Amino acid sequence: MSDGDPGTHMHALIRRLYPICRSITGPGLRESLAILSEVHPIRLMEVPSGAKVLDWIVPKEWVIRDAFIASSRGQKIIDFKEHNLHVLNYSTPVRAHMRLAELDAHLYSLPQQPSLIPYRTSYYSEQWGFCLSQRQREALDPAETYEVVIDSDFQDGSMTLGEIVLPGAREEEILVSTHTCHPSLCNDNLSGMAVAVHLATAIAARPRRLTYRFLFAPGTIGSIAWLALNEGRLSQIRGGLVITSVGGKGEFTYKRSRRGDAPIDRAARYALQARGLPFKEIPFHPYGYDERQFCSPGFDLGVGRISRTPHGEYPEYHTSGDDPDFVSAAALADAFAAISQILEATELDRVCRSLNPKGEPQLGKRGLYRDLAGEGLAIDELSLLWVLAYSDSRHSLLEVANLAGLPLARLARAADQLERHRLVVTCPVSSDHG
Ligand code: ZN
Repeated sequence: MSDGDPGTHMHALIRRLYPICRSITGPGLRESLAILSEVHPIRLMEVPSGAKVLDWIVPKEWVIRDAFIASSRGQKIIDFKEHNLHVLNYSTPVRAHMRLAELDAHLYSLPQQPSLIPYRTSYYSEQWGFCLSQRQREALDPAETYEVVIDSDFQDGSMTLGEIVLPGAREEEILVSTHTCHPSLCNDNLSGMAVAVHLATAIAARPRRLTYRFLFAPGTIGSIAWLALNEGRLSQIRGGLVITSVGGKGEFTYKRSRRGDAPIDRAARYALQARGLPFKEIPFHPYGYDERQFCSPGFDLGVGRISRTPHGEYPEYHTSGDDPDFVSAAALADAFAAISQILEATELDRVCRSLNPKGEPQLGKRGLYRDLAGEGLAIDELSLLWVLAYSDSRHSLLEVANLAGLPLARLARAADQLERHRLVVTCPVSSDHG
């Protein structure tokens, strides 16, 4: 990333990705990941069409070249090349002439929002269709015979997943996931893609205790495939965050993991509270984005979700109104900052175990007592005592921060110091589930 305001960079990236017709498979998805890779290199994984992933089958690749409805005089009335929301995503091919009476069953519009084109998909049932504004629909002539063309096909290929892995001092991982499958829609979810890849760049540039794994995956089938392929190493995941709809309006909404008290839930609350701005925290519910898969009972990863106004609660959701003007550089930059703060809190937080749990260890003989501290050595005795008192393999530093009324960063520094003096160790992630 070159110099300049990250919000402006992210907004420019969104404008560039906007015209590409993405789906859960296909060339638009790969082209988008290639563009994101210019910000930070992304490792691609191809999951073959027909592969069984958990209870699902990876579908064939969808290739869309053209789609239109033309009048008998050859004038294109609905044209995919003008807006890629015009074609039902994953539409089967069609070449036919028909009257409106027959065409009508294949049209989707929004009577309540007559100027907007809806976004519709049909990944898992074979259909063809067009999405158009209600105004366009009302202008169609029942007496006309229309030429209807969808030039698409389905190929044996693969579904593309993208990953950025940033190894830290420890193998324990933070998973940051965003879906990649929506065509020309900006808040849902180019905002997530743009913010995630910029976060990866920023985190790559600084020292890390934890390992960070950024996942760019088509919604539902992508995260399911990734979980199926990575089942053996999921025990390393300390927590995670799904990013979506962060470029629009409204305060942040944090949706808790299904566990409700996972490390990411503590971190999100702490970081969002520390901003001093209003935000919403909502419990887990089994609809939404890929937190559903990560939090399913067989995985139960502590993965929460960060959004601004969530999907379905803003009128432009899943319509042509979710365009580059709907998202702003300022909202994107602020999301980048807020999510950085949540990840930073996760990075600092940990559960410790005292190696000297019976009585307090003698700090003075280790140079850790204030009165004896050497010159220039910052000894935060209060924080050392709080960390030691709760290094019981159960309390996390964020819980100690709340009990002590001390900032997490101070406690984390104290824990680092105690760890260097072999007075505490960080517990493995498996013991940090509360
Ligand atoms: Zn969506």
